[in-house]
Amino acid sequence: MAIVAPPVRKHLSADALFRLVRSGFAGLPDHRLDDTELSFTDALMSAFAMLSLKAPSLLAFDKERAEGNVHTIYGIERVPCDTSMREILDPVSPKLFRPVFKRVFRQRQRGKALEPMAFLDGHYLLARDGTGYFSSQTIHCASCLQKVHRNGAITYFHQMLGAAIIHPDIRAVIPLMPEPIVRHDGTAKNDGERTAAKRLVGKLRRDHPHLKCIVTEASRSSNAPHIETLHAYGLRYLLGVKEGDHAYVFQQVQAAEHAGRVTYDERHDRAAGVLHRFRFVNDVPRNASHTDVRVNFLEYWEQGADKVQPFSWVTDLRVRTRNVYHLMRGGRARWKIANETCNTLKNQGYHFEHNYGHGTQHLAVVLAILMLLAFLVDQAQQLCCALFQAVWAKLGSKRLLWERMRALFYDYAFASMRQLFEALWYGFKKSSPLVTLDSS
Ligand SMILES: [Zn+2]
Repeated sequence: MAIVAPPVRKHLSADALFRLVRSGFAGLPDHRLDDTELSFTDALMSAFAMLSLKAPSLLAFDKERAEGNVHTIYGIERVPCDTSMREILDPVSPKLFRPVFKRVFRQRQRGKALEPMAFLDGHYLLARDGTGYFSSQTIHCASCLQKVHRNGAITYFHQMLGAAIIHPDIRAVIPLMPEPIVRHDGTAKNDGERTAAKRLVGKLRRDHPHLKCIVTEASRSSNAPHIETLHAYGLRYLLGVKEGDHAYVFQQVQAAEHAGRVTYDERHDRAAGVLHRFRFVNDVPRNASHTDVRVNFLEYWEQGADKVQPFSWVTDLRVRTRNVYHLMRGGRARWKIANETCNTLKNQGYHFEHNYGHGTQHLAVVLAILMLLAFLVDQAQQLCCALFQAVWAKLGSKRLLWERMRALFYDYAFASMRQLFEALWYGFKKSSPLVTLDSS
């Protein structure tokens, strides 16, 4: 029986999304005044292709440039050499890429590929987390954050706030345009995570004014001013809290307990040998100086055979016996952003200074953003493309999948990424060379 390749959703296929990214790049303003021999779109698309192929370095990508495939698959006319690519990308303002993220996101919305990610009453769970992706004592650029040590030495580093739509039952995530945390122009003052968080929330609302979101974050973000910002932008929240850092809330819960207002609940998961225990109370003041900010509190213990893991959150969603388990799973799903999004930056681009070059202005930030854009396209495949899912399952790991994908890309000519994935699915058999025997 013939094996039939699993179907591909046309508008969300890698090929369609590469075209969408390319046309998004084509709409961005070229900062160069004179050297226009190399196309700006080609330079951006070449960097995107390098990150999409997970090529280990710009140099390797350049050396191996498989002329036909960069053209047919990524639509690139001419790949600039690595030095030109760095020079073209370095002055590019990272904020230019926002509309390209939005285009890919909208395509998913139109293709109904967002709906399975809805978490509660049409709301999406939006996880946010800060991550560092570069640190050096010597290499630095105008955007680097700085830490001056007591002995006068300086550590240069880069951080960004990642944001992604997640779902506790779905492995794929949908990353949004990240917010770089950078040094302010012309000053030695570092940007802070709090101000970056405020910017991220404002831009999220501008990009997606009607998207219903429940923001879930680590306990360090659980402060009253941040909660007020989320409210101001019409966002719901489910934020971690810790007894050591948020003593006031825990005291209020204690007081509520004495007043008999606290509800307890528990569920047995006999198959997993786990007991889920809950305690919750609605409408308690968040902190002493902001008593008007009132929150609902949920505490949870996962009790296994030999250990108990505690978690707690504050939320503006009303906690009830019927939703307490679901809310707990949403709160715990936050690890996905650390595991999926932040590790993408770390594992595939950690030492930018070795792999891709750091630049003097924005290169490091631009490459990190393009990497997340490539990741967004990959995650769309993981969620929507049965062919991608089948090849991934067949090869057993993403690492092997990227390796095999690159090997075919460098050695054989394909008309599309779909054709390349079909080759991975059916198996690719090298034909033996034809040797003409001399029978004279
Ligand atoms: Zn830098």
